[in-house]
Amino acid sequence: MIVAQNLIKSYGAAKVLHGVSLTVAAGERIVLCGPSGSGKSTFVRCLNGLEERQGGTVEIAGHCLSADCANVLALAGDVGMVFQQFNLFPHLTVLDNLTLAMRRVRRTPHRAAEEEAMAMLARMQLTEKAASYPRQLSGGQQQRVAIARALCMKPKVMLFDEPTSALDPEMVKEVLDVMTDLSCQGLTMIVVTHEMGFARSVADRIIFMDRGTILEEADPETFFRHPSHARTKEFLRQIG
Ligand code: ADP
Ligand code: MG
Repeated sequence: MIVAQNLIKSYGAAKVLHGVSLTVAAGERIVLCGPSGSGKSTFVRCLNGLEERQGGTVEIAGHCLSADCANVLALAGDVGMVFQQFNLFPHLTVLDNLTLAMRRVRRTPHRAAEEEAMAMLARMQLTEKAASYPRQLSGGQQQRVAIARALCMKPKVMLFDEPTSALDPEMVKEVLDVMTDLSCQGLTMIVVTHEMGFARSVADRIIFMDRGTILEEADPETFFRHPSHARTKEFLRQIG
């Protein structure tokens, strides 16, 4: 589902990805962790065509993404992304946030889009919020709307970039529960998170990034019990 090879990314003179490669099978659930500034967001943004890159290749959900991202629109819908800061349209109701891309990108007729959106909101237990605006919702509800919006496009891959980091502690669980639910349904997922309980229970593979490279990757059991690198151990100590 994803083959990224030797990704190189610089911001001006600062090189932030030093040749990162990752292959993800369909249905695989990857947790990506590592210190702040290690390049996690940059990496997932490169996978989604939100960042141009200076080297390497990206194949995702059946698309070859060009280095300048000129063909990024082909990805729309097949790759969903959820950000730390929700990124909902503030001037649109919850329902319209969900139907906009379906209608514009998927060309779903208005009525059908609304039906699908309402079904998705029901699944997220947000039916009664359909006519609300994002600012009227709690952070956890907003993030569940953002997830619902991405899912309405029926993506093949979902990328999550620290989806619970901006939430008050009591709202983290409701979002992680939704994501755990998704992980049981065969969706290919890459999740950047420091929620190690989630990583332990959901990930097929945990990837540890440090200073623009993948330093270590392992199944959760190995990762938590026998990390091989000193920097991984230090990281686990700090967040543990
Ligand atoms: P992480 O998500 O692991 O915290 P990021 O991918 O956000 O790391 O950042 C990796 C490095 O790239 C950091 O040193 C950060 O300061 C730098 N960086 C990220 N985005 C930009 C940008 N738009 N312009 C310049 N530097 C950036
Ligand atoms: Mg980040």
